[in-house]
This record gives sequence, structure tokens and C-alpha cells, in this order.
Amino acid sequence: MKKHFFLGLGLLLLFGIQTQAQDQVIENIIQEARENSHLKTLGHELMDGIGPRLVGSPQMQKAHAWAVENYQNWGIEARNEQWGEWRGWDRGITHIDMVEPWVRSLAGTQLAWSPSSPKGGAKGEVILLPDLADSAAFQAWLPNAKGKYVMISAPQLTGRPDYNWEEWATEESFEKMKAERAAFEEAWTNRVQKTGLGRRELPAALENAGALGIITSYWSRGFGANKIFSAYTKKVPTVDLSLEDYGMLFRLAESGKKPVINLNAQSTETGVVPTFNTIAEIKGSEKPDEYVMLSAHFDSWDGGTGATDNGTGTIMMMEVMRILKKVYPNPKRTILVGHWGSEEQGLNGSRAFVEDHPEMMDKIQALFNQDNGTGRVANVSGQGFVDSYEYLGRWMNQVPREITKDIQTTFPGNPGGGGSDYASFVAAGVPAFSLSSLSWSYFNYTWHTNLDTYDKIVFDDVQNNVIMAAIMVYMACEEPELVSREVRVPVGRNGEPTTWPVKRSPTRKGGMD
Ligand SMILES: [Zn+2]
Repeated sequence: MKKHFFLGLGLLLLFGIQTQAQDQVIENIIQEARENSHLKTLGHELMDGIGPRLVGSPQMQKAHAWAVENYQNWGIEARNEQWGEWRGWDRGITHIDMVEPWVRSLAGTQLAWSPSSPKGGAKGEVILLPDLADSAAFQAWLPNAKGKYVMISAPQLTGRPDYNWEEWATEESFEKMKAERAAFEEAWTNRVQKTGLGRRELPAALENAGALGIITSYWSRGFGANKIFSAYTKKVPTVDLSLEDYGMLFRLAESGKKPVINLNAQSTETGVVPTFNTIAEIKGSEKPDEYVMLSAHFDSWDGGTGATDNGTGTIMMMEVMRILKKVYPNPKRTILVGHWGSEEQGLNGSRAFVEDHPEMMDKIQALFNQDNGTGRVANVSGQGFVDSYEYLGRWMNQVPREITKDIQTTFPGNPGGGGSDYASFVAAGVPAFSLSSLSWSYFNYTWHTNLDTYDKIVFDDVQNNVIMAAIMVYMACEEPELVSREVRVPVGRNGEPTTWPVKRSPTRKGGMD
């Protein structure tokens, strides 16, 4: 009995000493993250200094060079790995002025990869997509589009988001508005369907008929927020107008007041350009051929500056690497970060990395991806890995309680769909996890919108994510063996067993049609 007691105490002491040594690294991580944060400088340089990072744009290439330079300044090995080619495009100014029936400069954005206006812009009347009986009638009408700008989106009946109606409207008027809106949207869908043309074909038919440009408006259901994606036209510009500027032009055109705009959207085609992933690494001292990975996509849409999608994930991973290099310069395993190009067009950068480095896949201890906004981590799923609860739980336990206390965990969970780059690795059997953020109104206000800018970054939350990820990476590096990669049979949405996601190839040559 006594003997056992002493043996127990001995183990306790030994364990205690080991924990103490580990704690020092963790304490240093926390101290460096809090007292010497580089997040604001990185955020400013990336979002304000370089700007949005549309794949194929000059800013995307500048961002890759900037990341490598930062890593090298921190003594971290970094490189840009080419994985494909894309249509090169350089955004210019978008000036949209209503000149009839009165003068007002309108708020709008040329869509990505949209053709340019002629030099100085082009003036023309704005007309609505007509409500005609069928596709034959539409074909007969098409010559009327010549020399005109054509509005093809449904206008919004209200510029107030639903949460604002919920707060101020009577229940009756809120219900009435929703019913009117639903009926109006249905009527507009019918109007478009009766042209007989799809989403891509309609703009093409209009430009081929001689339209000066296409005007759309894709409200994101938040005050002032519009989503900005890519154009389907090949000869004339497509611009997205803000909700109310679109609404005003629409009402003027509908009531026969013949509004006229001058649209000057300048952009430059820059040919076919190479596309990259930025990879940086801190070599492992004991097991250099085993990896712990950090992951965040580097590209963005370009309506704003890609601050929360995924500037925050990007600067978070850079800051984690900077801190680890400083306080944990000789990790047991190699720490590798992937800043992926072209996530937005289908996880292309990360899929290419998985495809190009097959020998690495069963040597990756774990991967942590972040890609849904600026918020502190709120959800972690085991992605279907049977033992994820055991090791992720242990690693998370080392993160300060004030950072992890509100995190919801799901173990073992199911392999996530194609939401972001971790999915490319999960499909290859790698224990890859999403550090999923609190929303901060992500879907309405910043996700792929004109409002995704520096001012929306919540630096305190990003800093907490830095601390959490750095500690998780440190724990995964120190783990004696590679963790189990056993997977469960995933459960589909209907509750039936389903199959593990399959690896998919990237689009290596994009945007050129
Ligand atoms: Zn994203």
C-alpha cells in the first residue's frame, strides 16, 4: 500500500515537471500574442496596402510576394508554389453617374472579370428587362436593347433588413411586406424564365444584341451590403448597383422617365497569369518529415478588401507562425502553413497541394483551417475522426479557459462538406479541422460584399484565435506519436450512413472559358 503511494507520487512529480516545461512555452505564446501583437500592422498592410486578392489580379501576386517577405524577415523559410494559371484582370475605376432626369453619382461596382467601358465611359438610357409572353417574343424584342443599359435583377421592395422590420414594424405590416416581396420575387423569376435564357445566357444575349452594359443588384440583406461576384458578359461591362440607386433607376425606367447614365468602368485584361500557394515552414527537429499544418485561403472576392474572408484567417496564421518561430523555434515536427490561392472558385489551391504532395498526406499529424470571419472560435467538429475527442480535447485543455469556455464541440462529428480548404485534406484522410468562428453578421454584412473591409476586423477575437491555434499546433507537435486516423461511417443529412468525401481535382486553368 505504502509502496504504491510512493510510486504514485513519483509519477505525479515526473508528470508535474513535464507539464511545467510545456507550460513555459504556452505562457510565452500567450505573452507574445498579447504584448507584441503584429495583427494590426499585418491587417493594415494586407487590406489597405495591397487590397483585395482576386485570383489572377496583380494584388494577388503582390500579396504572395508580401507574405514570403514577411516570413523571411521572421527567419521562416517560405516559397510560392505555382499550381495553375488564371485569366489575369486588373480592376480600375467604376464611375456611374445618372445624368437624366437629374444628376447624381451612383454607388456601384464593376463585377470581377467584367469587360471594360470604352475610354471615358458610355452614355445611354437605362431600360428594364421586359415582361413578355415567351422566348419568341423576347427574341423579337432583343434589338431594342441596342445602345441601352439593361437592368436584369429584381429591385428590392424595402432597403431595411428583416431584423429592422422585426424591431419596428407592426406584426401585420411585417407580414404584409413579406407576402408582397414573395409575390414580387416570384413574378420577377417568371419574367426572367420567360426569356428562355439561363443566368449566364441572358447577359450574353443582351450584349450580342448591342446593349451598352448590364446592370444588376445583389443585395446581401444588410444595410448597404451587396455581394460582388463575377460577370457573365464578354464584351460590355456588368456593374452591380447599390440597392437604392438600383431601385431609383428601376422606378424611373418603369414610370417612363427615361433615366440616362454615363458608365465608366475601367479594367485591364492582363493575359494568362500563373497562380500560387504561399507555403512557409519551421523545420522539425526530431521528426522533420511529419507535419502539423495551419491553413487559410489567401485569395478573396474584390467588392471590399477581403478583410474577413479571409484576411483575418490569413493574418491569424501568419501571426501564429511568427510567434511559434520566436518561442518554439525547434518543434519536434515540421510546422507548415498553406496560404491557398483560389479557394473562392472551388478550393483550387488546397486541392492542388493535396494532389501535388501525395507523399505528405499520411504524415500530417493535424491541420487547422480558419475561414469564416473575424470572430473568436465558436465551434470545433471532429470531422468524423473517431478519436478526435481524445486528442483535440487534450490539446484544447491547454488553451486558457477564458478562450475556450464558449466553444461548442461535436465529436466525432461528420466530415464537413466543401465549406473551405480543410475539406480538401479531410478527403485525403488527413485529420483536418475547421476553427469555426462566431458570426459577427458575417453572412449578411461581410461575406463576399462591398463592406468586407478593415473596419470590420475584431482584433481581440483574432488574437484569441492566434493563441488557441498556436497552442494546438504546439501540442500536436509534441504529441509522442501520430494520432489515430480512423474514421467513422459518416451520417448523411437524412440520418442514413453515407460515404467518406472523395478527393477532387482542382481547376488548374481558370476564368478563360
Ligand atoms: Zn473564405
